[in-house]
Amino acid sequence: MSEITLIAVTKTVGLAEIEKISSLGILDLGENRIQPALDKICSFTSSPVTWHLIGHLQTNKVRQAVQYFQLIHSVDSLKLAKAIDAEAEKQHKKMTVLLQVNISGEITKHGFTPEGLMQTLPDLGRLKNIEIKGLMTMAPHYDDPETARPVFRGMRELTMTITRDMVPGISLQYLSMGMSNDFEVAIEEGATHIRVGSALFND
Ligand SMILES: *Cc1c(COP(=O)(O)O)cnc(C)c1O
Repeated sequence: MSEITLIAVTKTVGLAEIEKISSLGILDLGENRIQPALDKICSFTSSPVTWHLIGHLQTNKVRQAVQYFQLIHSVDSLKLAKAIDAEAEKQHKKMTVLLQVNISGEITKHGFTPEGLMQTLPDLGRLKNIEIKGLMTMAPHYDDPETARPVFRGMRELTMTITRDMVPGISLQYLSMGMSNDFEVAIEEGATHIRVGSALFND
């Protein structure tokens, strides 16, 4: 098994817990909303941490997202990808992103449909100031995490399909999936990044 990155999702906790978790050596932290995240990112400077944006991003918050986060997991439209690309050019950086896929088809979830993603990939691959490193998904919540296995397996298969197609500018190495309830199953199905909140901070 290759290395798994544990992202501690700190959206429900404050600086004291962030200090504590980072002192344990967990230096990948995830937030889902820009404004509360910025307060923490700007106040927490004692360790060099990697900040992950895991929640839906509106185009009017793209400037802050590009400035303060190292990895955006939640790119869910071509429009958003173009806005991030333009902003990254302005800030003279290459922004690393993941493409969010709504593979389970839940209407409450953001993300490309698998078919929509396949159609959009050539355009996404042409954006020069973003580096598309992989896919992300949120599985539906099930009491039995085994029920989520087909969702995770579908993501791995989608990654393999895209890799086989060799779209210029697209190289999928990361697969961000699995939360407190289902990360073991996600890892078995090929997750490289798991996003864990409540299991770490038990709230
Ligand atoms: C809150 C959140 C998580 C963590 O969920 P837990 O069930 O608390 O582990 C993971 N991913 C996203 C996108 C989230 O918003």
